[in-house]
Amino acid sequence: MQDCLFCKIIAGEIPTNKVYEDEHTFAFEDIDPKAPTHVLIVPKKHIRGLKEAQKSEAEIIGRCHLTAAKIARDRQIEDGYRTVLNVGPKSGQSVFHLHVHLLGGRDLRWPPG
Ligand code: AMP
Ligand code: ZN
Repeated sequence: MQDCLFCKIIAGEIPTNKVYEDEHTFAFEDIDPKAPTHVLIVPKKHIRGLKEAQKSEAEIIGRCHLTAAKIARDRQIEDGYRTVLNVGPKSGQSVFHLHVHLLGGRDLRWPPG
């Protein structure tokens, strides 16, 4: 999709620190990390956000979470990590291409702010 930051990152038009890529998902380091591990996992298909997602996109959204779990396993942070989907402007969603935040490598407070 034109003018989507994450579509441009996936296409290689904007440089990024890539963590992982497969047929359906792409993962890269967050530019402003909030934890020692802060990776964003996105579907290669442009989906605006969770509230816009269709039933037909259930599998790709699940794949994003499984990619997060793989990265957490590879980084040996399975003693405590969090996956987060911000939905809507009040949640702080600032990029409107669905993305799963993977946060870990430190103690995580609950509930999140
Ligand atoms: P959200 O606030 O949930 O929409 O998350 C967007 C995330 O994208 C934020 O954590 C930003 O730090 C991150 N971000 C913005 N621009 C870039 C970029 N060019 N490369 C990597 N991460 C980015
Ligand atoms: Zn996009």
